[in-house]
Parts: sequence; structure tokens; C-alpha cells
Amino acid sequence: MATVSMVDVHKSFSKGGNTIAAVDGVSVDIADGEFFVILGPSGAGKTTTLKALAGLVDIDSGSIHIGGTDVTLVEPYHRNVAMAFESYALYPQKTVAENLASPLKSGRTGRYTEAERAERIDQVTTTLGINHLQKRFPRELSNGQRQRVALGRVLVRPADVYLLDEPLSHLDAKLRASMRAELKQLGAMSSTTTIYVTHDYQEALALGDRIAVMRDGRLVQIGRPEEIWRRPADTFVAKAVGQPEINLLDGVVDTGRIRLGDGTFDVPVPPETSCQRGDRVRVGLRPSDIQVGGSDEAPRGRVILAERLGRNIELTVDIGGTQLVVLAEGRGGVGEGAEVTLTVADADVHLFAIGEGSTPSLRTSGQEPVLEAAQ
Ligand code: ADP
Ligand code: MG
Repeated sequence: MATVSMVDVHKSFSKGGNTIAAVDGVSVDIADGEFFVILGPSGAGKTTTLKALAGLVDIDSGSIHIGGTDVTLVEPYHRNVAMAFESYALYPQKTVAENLASPLKSGRTGRYTEAERAERIDQVTTTLGINHLQKRFPRELSNGQRQRVALGRVLVRPADVYLLDEPLSHLDAKLRASMRAELKQLGAMSSTTTIYVTHDYQEALALGDRIAVMRDGRLVQIGRPEEIWRRPADTFVAKAVGQPEINLLDGVVDTGRIRLGDGTFDVPVPPETSCQRGDRVRVGLRPSDIQVGGSDEAPRGRVILAERLGRNIELTVDIGGTQLVVLAEGRGGVGEGAEVTLTVADADVHLFAIGEGSTPSLRTSGQEPVLEAAQ
């Protein structure tokens, strides 16, 4: 159990004559027992950040503290952190139970009795849903089960901090979802500080006590899942969470309303904003926050594309020359060519500074913008 702090950590690599700032001034304080998620696209610097915490890369400047102790110059072995890598390996000639026992036999954790080892293995396999597989060999397991065992090998070892680098990335969407639920349980049960890296916003929202969104070596926003979802600091964060991606439209503030595009479509000014009549703003509207139907007075648009995504229908609606992506509930038969009214609640209107460029978006595993953490 331990707090984790990074103070202005920098780490650059030279590659083909160029210098890449993989970690570019990261400062963060993580609480004892917190489940902290780092969310970012490939190349953002997530793995390098974890390796810096584990002591597997030497940082150029800054400092790292675990449990209040400065460990910047401490060898990995003495940091008492357990790290799971993206790629995982099991001993093929050992059973699941034996694979899980080996981390408890080596090094500083070698002090366990056989009964204590069995108890820890039981706990971890139960949490990961692989308790009944203890006597199997890796070749007798599915990919998903093997990944659970690999994760178990990290979690079975008592450590001050667990560092998990995209532990679900090799699983298919369905398995990811079920593992996510189990990891959430684990997070709730375990009091061990956990830093979890992912490019999947659904995982981040579901699992994180807090989320740090990482871009180009920097943490661009740190907050609880609801804050990241409801108050994204910029368009990069807004696009990083949510699928389909948030609509970004330029508009001009009028009295109580913001006129978008040619002015046919307008949305309310969100509460607690200081914008003034005549201001030019960039407006973000999440596809799932736009209501189809409702008031007859609401702006009208025409559906130009309708695509079913399981329970929902993704609509592309043209409204006065502006195209909006809308995620509608799938029961009503809104088809291509239909005329629809669109309304947005004031709290669902996100404002950004004008001229914030379009940014690379994240890969996502699923289609539905579920927000389990905020329920
Ligand atoms: P992420 O895990 O978010 O995908 P990484 O931390 O792996 O990002 O990488 C961040 C950046 O640093 C990338 O541009 C990557 O190519 C570069 N990088 C990472 N490790 C090395 C290394 N050992 N040598 C050179 N460049 C590296
Ligand atoms: Mg990585």
C-alpha cells in the first residue's frame, strides 16, 4: 500500500537522429489504494511512464516517490512494484496453480508457507474467474483464460503498487467486457494502489477512480470519470472519450442560444459559462446527447444516413448544411430521408476555444458509449 508521486518527470529517446520526448513533464499524485488509469492513443508515452515507475527506464529529470520515499535512483527489484506487460508468457510445462505459485516462491516474496500460497492463489483465481482451472496446463486454456492467468501472476504477488499495461488488449470485445467487470471488482476489493494503462475509453471510464488523459508525453487532463466525460478540458479529451466521436461545430453566441453553421440549428448556452453575445465558439455535442423528436419548435433536419449498431441507430443528420452524428434509440424506425427535430439540453453543450485543431482520435473497442462509472 502506497502513494505514488511523479514530479516533473522527463524521458526522451533518440530515434533516427530525432529526439522523442516520450514523457514530457509528467507530475501527478496518486492516492494510497487508488485505481488510477492512464488513457491515451498509441505512442502517447503510457508504457514509458509505467516503466519509469517500475525503474525499468532511467528518467532524464524529475523524481518518483513511492510511499513517500524517493525511489528515483532505486533499483527495480527494491521498489516493490509488480508490472504486467502487454505481452505475457506462462510456463508451458506448469499448471495454472504452479504458474501462479512461482512469483510467490522467488525473491522477497519467498517467505510464504505452502498454505499461504494456496490461499493467495485461491483468492486471485476466484476474482479472475479461473479458480476451476488450477490444475490445467496453459495449452488446455483459451486465449482469454491464458491472459487471466498472466494477470494473476502479477496480482498474486503482494506489492505496494500494481502497474498494468493494457492487460486486456489481446482479448476480443466480449471477453474484454467480462474481464472489465471482474477487474472492477478487483479494484473495489483490493486496497493496493493500481496504475492501469489503456487506449480504450470504456475501460478507463469503467475502472478508474481517476483518469489521466495522455497525449504526446503530457497528462492533458486528470479527473474523475464523470469530470473527464462531462467537462473535457479540450477537444482532444472530448474526442478521446465517446464513440461515435463528439460532433464539433463552430458557432456564434446569441441571447441564450448559440447559432451553429448557417444558423438553422441552435443550441442553448450551457450553464455557468461566461460567453457573451457575439462570441465565436467551438461547440461539442455528443451523439448520444442529441434527442431526436420532441418539441415541434426544435430545429429540423433530414436523415442522410442511418446505420444500426446493435441496440442503437447511428444517424447522420443534415441540418441547414451542417452534418451531425446522432445516436438514437433503436426502437423508432427513423430511416434515411426522414425529417427529424433535434434538441440538446443545456448541460450537454460543451464549449471549447475556437481554433482548437482537430486531433488524432483513439481506437475504441466497442460502439456503445456506456458510462458505467457514472451510474
Ligand atoms: P504508448 O505506450 O503510449 O504507446 P510508449 O511509451 O511506448 O507509448 O512510447 C512513447 C514514444 O516513445 C513513442 O514515440 C515511442 O516510439 C518512443 N519510444 C518508446 N520506447 C522507446 C525506445 N526504447 N527507444 C526509442 N523510442 C522509444
Ligand atoms: Mg504502450
